[in-house]
Amino acid sequence: MGLEKTQAVVIGRRGLGESDRLVTFYSRRFGKIHGVARAARRPRSRFGGALELFTLGELVFFDTGKSDLLRIDHFDIVHPFSRVRDDLDRFGHASWIVECVARLTAEQDRHRALYGLLVRGLRAVETSGRPARAALCFGVRGVEALGHRPRLDVCVGCHRSYPFPQAHLDLDGGGLACAACAREASAALPISAAAVGALDRLRTLSWDEALATPLPGLEPELASVLDAHVSRLIGQPTRTRRFLRELRRLTPGGRP
Ligand SMILES: [Zn+2]
Repeated sequence: MGLEKTQAVVIGRRGLGESDRLVTFYSRRFGKIHGVARAARRPRSRFGGALELFTLGELVFFDTGKSDLLRIDHFDIVHPFSRVRDDLDRFGHASWIVECVARLTAEQDRHRALYGLLVRGLRAVETSGRPARAALCFGVRGVEALGHRPRLDVCVGCHRSYPFPQAHLDLDGGGLACAACAREASAALPISAAAVGALDRLRTLSWDEALATPLPGLEPELASVLDAHVSRLIGQPTRTRRFLRELRRLTPGGRP
């Protein structure tokens, strides 16, 4: 590839060796990529604070073609999403969004719609005042963009039409299951009729409408159904969900 330039969001970072930093980006032109920022952990590094989690920037990198790790030449901040890092609740939900992107996508598999959703999701977490809802809207659309849209019109086992009582979400079957089919399924969890309706609404409404539509008391159920779906796709529980649960436990009466 040689020298390349793309907009990208920092979705993961860790120290490498004495002073370098290994950074994972989700980029507009190349999807998920990993790069090494040489000397980024030194004081007065030329990267400054640009390589913080969630930062959106213009990335210039060099691909030698010899390794999966690219050489990060420049990363100029376009939007730092710093308010996301100022508040634990916002931080938790934004972390769930980037974890979904980091773990549900393959290396260098460009997906423009998912990139757009990622930026939109982070913006909503930062500004909407309802970070849980923003993460929910991202999750519903993100799963769909990646080709895992659950069927909500029939039981995926016996094909009887929904609505039926005691609906479940069959995570491997890719949609709703009736009680009898759910018993045969490898991973199915109960879902209320109200949550099925809300899930359907969230994916058909426009982004702004989905952020604002009333979902009385349904957000916790939707969030756990969605997280179970994502966890099943990843093959293990998401790390962030546990953090968000702990956060709720430590702030009784606080925002979900
Ligand atoms: Zn059935």
